[in-house]
Amino acid sequence: MTARIIDGKAIAAELRARVAGEVARVKREHGLVPGLAVVLVGNDPASEIYVKSKHRETQAAGMASFEHRLPADVSQSDLLTLIGRLNHDPAVHGILVQLPLPKHLHSETIINAIDPAKDVDGLHPNNAGRLAGGFAALSPCTPLGCIILTKSVHPSLEGMNAIVIGRSNLVGRPLLQLLLNENATVTIAHSRSRDLAKLCARADLVYAAVGKPEMVRGDWIKPGATVIDVGINRLPGESGKTRLVGDVAFAEASQVAGAITPVPGGVGQMTVACLLVNTLRAACAIAGLPKPAV
Ligand code: NAP
Repeated sequence: MTARIIDGKAIAAELRARVAGEVARVKREHGLVPGLAVVLVGNDPASEIYVKSKHRETQAAGMASFEHRLPADVSQSDLLTLIGRLNHDPAVHGILVQLPLPKHLHSETIINAIDPAKDVDGLHPNNAGRLAGGFAALSPCTPLGCIILTKSVHPSLEGMNAIVIGRSNLVGRPLLQLLLNENATVTIAHSRSRDLAKLCARADLVYAAVGKPEMVRGDWIKPGATVIDVGINRLPGESGKTRLVGDVAFAEASQVAGAITPVPGGVGQMTVACLLVNTLRAACAIAGLPKPAV
């Protein structure tokens, strides 16, 4: 079997176009311009790339984009003051603090200071708790993207067996909750889980969010399963360059799976698109408008 490749690039482009359409509508009908503020501390090269693409895509969708660049040695109190200002700024509907933060800053305190209504990364305990309770919440963008990619193959996930490998607050745990909301039966695995291969073998849906290059092997996959690879790992490539690989051994797994996401070109493309969705949803909720049609 050769798996169908789930085209994250095309699905993300279609989602961004739908967001842009809704942004134009709320502007026209309600004079509302959704605004996203991104805070970057220091100059980590990977974070710089992510922030640039968030800025570009936010503007392309017709939203306002506010970038705040702070020096790597900014104090915790100065960063908290900026977040307090953004919380009260009526032009800002979404606030994202690019992670990881330098070690002297306490990420949990910083995230907890964001107004939960503007928490478009979905990491504030209010949103995590609401999601865990099955209530409406702003959910983290990468897991949201994983669900959209899965539904491009299976419009209903009801009753399917899913395994999520990884239990981070950013990916694994919220993905577990989103899958439960879709009525899937979910196993969550982590570094202490025993016999991962056996756990995977019964899953119709496999999500790998581990950060270990090509850890999930082809012979772990149930024939015909859908495989969503969240991992982004940089390995040395040719002539001093680096190459990206996922957490799944793609060449092997694609011989067994029914559908699979590539790396790059899979989940990564969806994360920024879902950030736009969350910003639009946050703006409509703050303005007291109905949920947009994305
Ligand atoms: P993380 O916070 O480091 O969490 C990794 C998880 O994997 C942990 O729960 C850990 O278990 C588990 N794990 C580690 N080794 C394992 C093993 N041998 N077997 C089973 N589980 C194991 O990472 P993350 O932030 O969730 O990110 C995971 C990957 O996704 C990374 O490659 C990251 O770059 C990528 N990522 C991609 C996007 C995107 O937009 N595509 C977004 C976010 C992250 P314990 O809890 O027991 O330690």
